[in-house]
Amino acid sequence: MEKKELVLYSREAIARRVEELAKEVDAAYGGKEIVVIGLLRGSFVFCSDLVREMKSKMEIDFMTTSSYENNESSSGDVKVFGDLRCDVKGRDVLIVDDIIDTGHTLQTVTEAIKKMEPASVKSVVMLDKPSRREVDFSADFTGFTIDDVFIVGYGLNYGPYYRNKPYIYTYED
Ligand code: 5GP
Ligand code: MG
Repeated sequence: MEKKELVLYSREAIARRVEELAKEVDAAYGGKEIVVIGLLRGSFVFCSDLVREMKSKMEIDFMTTSSYENNESSSGDVKVFGDLRCDVKGRDVLIVDDIIDTGHTLQTVTEAIKKMEPASVKSVVMLDKPSRREVDFSADFTGFTIDDVFIVGYGLNYGPYYRNKPYIYTYED
C-alpha cells in the first residue's frame, strides 16, 4: 500500500529559508574566501541551493559519509571517504550537511578536517533534530529545527529513493 506523504516544508518555504541562511553565513565570514565541503549524498540538493545564494568567494568540494547502512538511524560508526581535491590547510572551511541527528557524522567529519589544520571549521545544516543528539555537537547555522520524525526529500532518502523530491516530508503512519 502507498504511504501518505505529510509535507513539512514546501519548496517555497525551503527557498525562503535557504536565502536567509545564505545571508547569515556570508555575514559570518565577512567577505573572506572559504572552502565549502558538502557531505554526500544527502547534502547535494541543499549544498547546491545554498552556494548559489551565497556571495562569498569559495572553492567547493565533497566528502562521502555513511553511517546508516539502510537503517533508519545512525549507528555511530561513521565512515568518512575523504578524497578532497582542495588543500584546506590554513583556510576557512564550511561543512554542509542535510541534517544533524545523533551528531556523530558532523562531529566525526569536523575532527577529520581539524587534523588538516584549517584556519577554522564551521558547519551548516538544513535540518536539526536536537532531541536525538548523542554527542555534544551543534551546527553553527541551521535551517529548520524539527521533532524526532524521519524525514524524506530535498536530498534525504527513503531506502534508495526520493532524494529528488523538492519538498521535505514525512510519512503518515
Ligand atoms: P547523524 O550522524 O547526525 O545521526 O546523522 C546524520 C545523517 O543521518 C544525515 O546526514 C542523514 O544522511 C541521516 N539522517 C538523519 N536523520 C534522517 C532522517 O530523518 N531522514 C533521512 N532520510 N536521513 C536522516
Ligand atoms: Mg548524510
